[in-house]
Formats: sequence, C-alpha cells, structure tokens
Amino acid sequence: LKTLRLILGDQLNYQHSWFKEEQENITYVMMEMHQETDYVVHHIQKVIGFFSAMRNFSKHLEERDHQVIYFKINDDHNTQDLEKNLKHLITKDNFEKFEFQLPDEYRLDEQLNKICKGLDIESESFDTEHFFTRRDELENYFKGKKQMVMEYFYRDMRKKHDILMVNTKDPQGGKWNFDKSNRKKWKGTPEIPHERGFRKNVIDILEEIQKAEIKTMGTVNAENYNWPTSREDALSVLNYFCKNLLLHFGDFQDALHTDETYLFHSRLSFSLNTKLISPREVIDSVIDYYHDHKEEIDISQVEGFVRQILGWREYMRGIYWKEMPGYKRSNKLDNQNTLPAFYWNADTKMNCLHHAIKNSLENAYAHHIQRLMITGNYALLTETNPDEVDKWYLGIYIDAIEWVEITNTRGMSQFADGGIVATKPYVSSGSYINKMSNYCKDCHYNVNQKTGENSCPFNSLYWNFLDSKREIFRDNQRMKMMYSLLDKKAAEELEEIRERARTIIQQPADF
Ligand code: FAD
Ligand code: SF4
Repeated sequence: LKTLRLILGDQLNYQHSWFKEEQENITYVMMEMHQETDYVVHHIQKVIGFFSAMRNFSKHLEERDHQVIYFKINDDHNTQDLEKNLKHLITKDNFEKFEFQLPDEYRLDEQLNKICKGLDIESESFDTEHFFTRRDELENYFKGKKQMVMEYFYRDMRKKHDILMVNTKDPQGGKWNFDKSNRKKWKGTPEIPHERGFRKNVIDILEEIQKAEIKTMGTVNAENYNWPTSREDALSVLNYFCKNLLLHFGDFQDALHTDETYLFHSRLSFSLNTKLISPREVIDSVIDYYHDHKEEIDISQVEGFVRQILGWREYMRGIYWKEMPGYKRSNKLDNQNTLPAFYWNADTKMNCLHHAIKNSLENAYAHHIQRLMITGNYALLTETNPDEVDKWYLGIYIDAIEWVEITNTRGMSQFADGGIVATKPYVSSGSYINKMSNYCKDCHYNVNQKTGENSCPFNSLYWNFLDSKREIFRDNQRMKMMYSLLDKKAAEELEEIRERARTIIQQPADF
C-alpha cells in the first residue's frame, strides 16, 4: 500500500526500525507549523532547536534515499494545521495508508486519534522505540497501591533492565540510593570544564521564524547557537559528559552558583526529549565509561545520574499518562495569584531569582535545582496559579514538552496534584538557598532576617505559606517538625511575617 508516515518534531529517532524496512511505497512527512509554535510562547532558542533538528533529520533521511515531504514554516501550501496538511496530502497523492508513531503529548494523541477516525484510508500507530517503559506500565505497576513512590518503581526498573546490578539481584555499591552523598555546595572547585558549545550559525532559521511572526521569548546569539540539533551533536554532548562531568555529577547535583550556568549537569534533556538519543544508550555509555574508569569515578556519581533518567524521567512519563487529562487542571492548593512580571525579564532585586531567570532567558536552560528551589519555590510560596506557572515552564526551556514539563511543574514543584509526585511540597526559606549557593552574599536582602524591609522575602513567605496551608499539611508526617516550629512562634512575630508576605505577594514589582 502507498503509505504516508508522519514524524513529529520530537520523534527524531534515527535508530527507529521504520527506517530499516523496505521503503518502496513509503513517504515520510514532517511539518513546521504554527499549531506547534503558538500553543504557548516558546523561547526563541527552543523554536530554532526544533526546526533545525527536524531539518537535519529530514536531510539525513533523504541522503539515505527515503522519500520525505517537508513543510517549512513559510511554505505557501502549509496550512499550519496538522489535520489540514495531512488530509490535503493524502487526497492529492492518493495515499492508501497512514502511519504515525504514538505521540508523547496528550493533546497530539487526541488530535491524531480524531484525524484517523475521519480518514477513509487505513491507519496504524507504532511505538517510538525510545522509552524503557510503555505508557501504561507505571499505572499497572502501582495498581491497587495507595502511593506511587518513585523509589520503588526505580528499583524495579533497575532489576528489570539489569542496570547497575550484581547478579540481577542486588544493587552495585551495596545501596540503591546515594542521594544523601549528593548534596555539596560548589565553591569554585573542582574546576568545571567549559568547552561544550557548537557555535552554529542559525541566522537563516531565525529570519524565517521572524518572517513567520512567531511570538517568542528570551534571546539568542544566532551566530553562536549552542544546542545539539543532530544525532552527531547529541552523541558529542554525551561523550563530553562522560569524560568531563560525570566524575562530579552526583556531588554537585543540588549546587547553585552565580558564575556557572550548567555546573556538572549534562545538558542532554533536549537531545533525549527529541529522541536524537535514547535513554538506553545514554545509560549504557555512562556505565561503560564508569566501568573503564572505576579508580577515578565513584558509584554515587553514576547512580545519581542513572536515577534521573531511568527513575524520574520514566516515572514522570507514567504519571502523565495515568493522570491526564485531569492533571492539567489540578490545583489542590487552590492557588490563584498571578506570576510576577519579573519572570519575563529577570528584573528583580532578589539575587537568586535574578540569576535563575536571567539564565533561563539567555540560555533556554536552568538546571534542576534552579527550577525547583528558586523559580518553582518562589511561585509556590507566593501561591501562584499553577496554570500560569505551567505556561512559563512550558515556554521557556528548550527541553519543555508537556509530558515531562507538567509532571515536574504542577506535580513535583507546585504540589498542585495534591501529593501524587511529591510527598511534601518543595518549599524552603532563604537558609536552604544560602546553604547551596553563593547567591545571598551579594543580594539586596539579608538572608538572616525574617521580617523588616531588608529581610529575605523567602523567609517570611515560607512561614506564611505553612501558616496559610495549615489545614492541608498539618497531618503530613514529613512536615511535623516545621509545624511544631511554626507553632512556637509568638503571635506578634507571626503577624509581622504575614504582613511582610502579604506585601511581597501584592507588590512583586517592588522586590
Ligand atoms: P541533568 O541534571 O544532567 O540530568 C540528566 C537527565 O535526567 C536530564 O537530561 C533529564 O532527561 C533527566 N531528568 C533529570 N531530572 C528529571 C526530572 N525531574 N524529570 C524528568 N527527567 C529528569 N525536564 C525536562 O526534560 N523537560 C521539562 O520541561 C522539565 N521541566 C521541569 C520543570 C520543573 C519545575 C522542574 C523542577 C524540573 C523540570 N525538568 C524538566 C526536570 C529537570 O530539571 C531537567 O530535565 C534538567 O534540568 C535538564 O537538564 P540536564 O539535561 O542538564 O539534566
Ligand atoms: Fe534569594 Fe533571599 Fe538569598 Fe536574596 S537573600 S539571594 S532573595 S535567598
């Protein structure tokens, strides 16, 4: 049958079995569309990243004699809508069958199902051959359980896929989890190697995006574009990570620093989420490298990394498919405030937020602890509506695709799911930020003061949050200690805290 196969922008799996089959009757289609660029305001580097990675992928297929139809964003015949483009092609070229890979996003899943129902030709879906788990694997794994604890799922994945195991039974290094050893502050040493840019010129694509009038945020140095957009690039980021960064990955996983955007983080999320590279090959490479360098690298660094990909990443995907579409509307803490304007321009006197947001706007990147304990923490402490928080996270990061963005943002960071992902809210006062970073040293505010004009806003906001959400969290075992500290505060002090927090929440522009 004459077959049309759709490849979405995050389905750039060079290794997919599709490309190993007999190709005579097969045509691939890829589309740059306003449908995908406009559902949220994306960072300019993200739109460039997707378009260039898609173009490179299509070129790669053509060079291997596959037939490819590619819609560029400004092509006249591009209707900018998936359904219209597909239907038009199918009729024009008399395709007899339509095939697609299962999308990772609920929105596209629904749209494709609807499209298929409306076609008068046969259609079939295929696995993306990317993840360790199927969409419903987590749901089946936790069936009948009250809580879906990531740790148990992760251990089982380790066993099932025989990763970092001894005789498929016991964890290498004698422990499943080395998280506690992974909590160091970075104080200028060990040195962080810096040569990891690609320095690509993406001016042509930038101009096309501008011509198409796609609304974006953030900045780009178009002569020096720095993200991997081909499989070769992705592999080089992976090699770079193994050789230069793995050695200290775990130790400094939670560290924050004004001079360092990436610290020892891998920057692999975009390559993984677009499927340029698979989680299995990332884990295999890291473990192979570790086995060859056991005298230098400690197991705790490697386990910390494997946990992120085999544990958190697969877990979040499972939660997404289990909980959608309701997840997208969840707001269990009933938070209704708007996101402060400084999230869009970094114009704030709070040094930690200034740095985390500036990084994000300049690089379409912030590492996990900046996302969780700076921007996420502040949004939650100021009781921001999770819809607003989601929109920001979904737009600003190069790796933001809904299945992994929303579970991290609404779930892990904002506790809007009422505790499905996190057993307690990730909130902290300034003292945690001070412990893990050098932000407070040069801040306008004093991290040691709880109230008063110069006091660190995180301090009053933290106690105010606990106070205002008491009914929800008072029985949470993991928060007992914090509530007993709150209960010891004198009424007068508590009133001052509430007053200061109210001002911060109501007048964000002054901070
Ligand atoms: P590294 O620190 O080097 O980690 C290695 C890899 O592990 C990452 O590339 C990623 O694939 C995976 N990983 C690590 N933590 C997580 C996690 N919590 N969930 C899923 N995978 C994880 N990650 C995204 O890929 N897309 C998002 O849109 C996204 N939004 C987030 C929003 C918030 C509020 C928070 C707190 C986290 C978010 N994360 C998201 C998770 C994590 O912050 C990023 O994956 C990570 O910062 C990417 O940088 P890296 O590749 O250098 O990661
Ligand atoms: Fe952030 Fe407070 Fe430290 Fe300033 S003092 S950097 S606001 S935690």
